[in-house]
Amino acid sequence: MTPRPLATIAVVLALLATGCNDLWPAPVTGPLENGRYPDGALTLVTAECRVINDVAPRLRTLIAAAAADGVGLTPEQSSFLPPGVPGPPQIESCYRSYDGQVWWRNYYCSIGKCQNAATPGTSKHGLGRGVDFQDQNGELTFDSPGYAWLAAHAGEHGFFQPANQQQGSDGEEAWHWEAQT
Ligand SMILES: [Zn+2]
Repeated sequence: MTPRPLATIAVVLALLATGCNDLWPAPVTGPLENGRYPDGALTLVTAECRVINDVAPRLRTLIAAAAADGVGLTPEQSSFLPPGVPGPPQIESCYRSYDGQVWWRNYYCSIGKCQNAATPGTSKHGLGRGVDFQDQNGELTFDSPGYAWLAAHAGEHGFFQPANQQQGSDGEEAWHWEAQT
């Protein structure tokens, strides 16, 4: 009669050693560290986008409001890199892990544009508050319908474009917006 309980214990121990953390995320306690958030601090909005929990409702509302106006705004679904450039290990258009930020920093610095990716540990993406958008035409440009819509309506949903991503700035990026705190 003993082998069966022993086998059960072995299975439980094996589970504890591997995938169990996904089933029961650790409770969110203490300060959150940029790029090292526990799963429980983040809400999935699209397959490529997780944001800090309190931002998820307003991001969903923003996307729905844009759609109601005929604008297909959504967090980026691809990395929009030039052909031939291998992409990052994971597409993280909103919250970005520390390792993901290292990848983007290395990429932008390699093309002489370090200013387009924050130093790892300082990005608003690492706080779950940055969102990179695309629209029905692809990655946002300053001429995109998605950009025009955001310029007119982002504030109504608690989003803004920081000065160092605005048109004409050193690190201009039409696609990068952030949730107000
Ligand atoms: Zn961004």
